[in-house]
Amino acid sequence: MSILFKNCYLVTPGFENENMSVLVADGKIKQIFAPGDKLPEADTVKDCNNNMLMPGFVDVHCHGRSGFDFCDASVEAIAAIAENKLAEGVTTLLPTTLTVSEEQLSGALKSAADYVASNASKKGCKLPGVHLEGPYINTKLIGAQNPAFVRLPDIEEVKRLNAIFPVKKVSFAPEVEGGAEFSSALLAMGITPSAVHTNATHADFKNAYLHGMRNLSHFCNQMTPLHHRDIGMVGAGLLHDDVYIEFICDKLHICPDMIELVFALKDTEYIQLISDAMRASGMPDGEYDLGGMQTFVKAGAARLANGALAGSTLQICDALKNVYMVTGLDISELVKTTSYNQSRALNLPGIGKIEPGYCADIVILDEGFKVLETYVDGELRYKA
Ligand code: FE
Repeated sequence: MSILFKNCYLVTPGFENENMSVLVADGKIKQIFAPGDKLPEADTVKDCNNNMLMPGFVDVHCHGRSGFDFCDASVEAIAAIAENKLAEGVTTLLPTTLTVSEEQLSGALKSAADYVASNASKKGCKLPGVHLEGPYINTKLIGAQNPAFVRLPDIEEVKRLNAIFPVKKVSFAPEVEGGAEFSSALLAMGITPSAVHTNATHADFKNAYLHGMRNLSHFCNQMTPLHHRDIGMVGAGLLHDDVYIEFICDKLHICPDMIELVFALKDTEYIQLISDAMRASGMPDGEYDLGGMQTFVKAGAARLANGALAGSTLQICDALKNVYMVTGLDISELVKTTSYNQSRALNLPGIGKIEPGYCADIVILDEGFKVLETYVDGELRYKA
């Protein structure tokens, strides 16, 4: 089964050009053709009308969408999330848990395992594993996580959960008891450690860094800010070149000036756009539950009763558009932040580029960043 995408505005890390063509066969990118090249035959020929064709997005931090939360722990919920993420161009997703009981975490991971084993999973984006956000966080920077379920890092709990469904990333507060050593224990299991909901000093971070921590989750949000006598976690993310940051570019969690500042200071190859979306993403304004807490969504902003932001309703295609509008950087530079960096940070091989040998995970967007079509392994799974 082969598809020839012709007349594309091809965008891949470090390269963009119009009137390009891409041949896909057996789920993989087979060959790229420059303008004027002789094009091969294919089972299907798709004229892209010079709309943007780029690697499908990888969302490594997403709690829910379309009325469902991963912690609902039902196959119906995970199926709805995995299918509806395609509409924002996401082809690989790490469903992300909240600070809840181990019983609830087990149920959520079991639902992911059951979904992936079912035929229904052929209709959604790929789920290589999950991201545990908490429960090992600092209650001083609790945000919209539930303090009732916060506990100390527990590698045995992670092993039990990983036996149900692969855990790819764990976000926790590195300054809590056993936090630094927890980083190396996770790495030994092939899991990416990341800092989140953290009151760590820069010294605390450097200790975790020595134990292999190279990721900061939802950078700037719920972490120690930059201060001139202790640069905190925000300073750590800016100072250490080899530290990846997740970034919620909805212009609410992060103001446009901060987006501009971070892109000016940080190598684009270490920034990962995330949604941090909750169940209200893709839904109308209203009242929604988040891990047992009531949130109010107004004009797309989800807040707790006390006014604190509670997850986002952001879609990745809009995050990319926001960053493009704010920074004015080339789209071939910014495209690194939507899948290529995630594939390196989380060891997800074969995704993140439109190059021969890579998976044919593809999104086609118009010039307004509206998703027109999404392909997973060369199969059309979403059409606007
Ligand atoms: Fe969070």
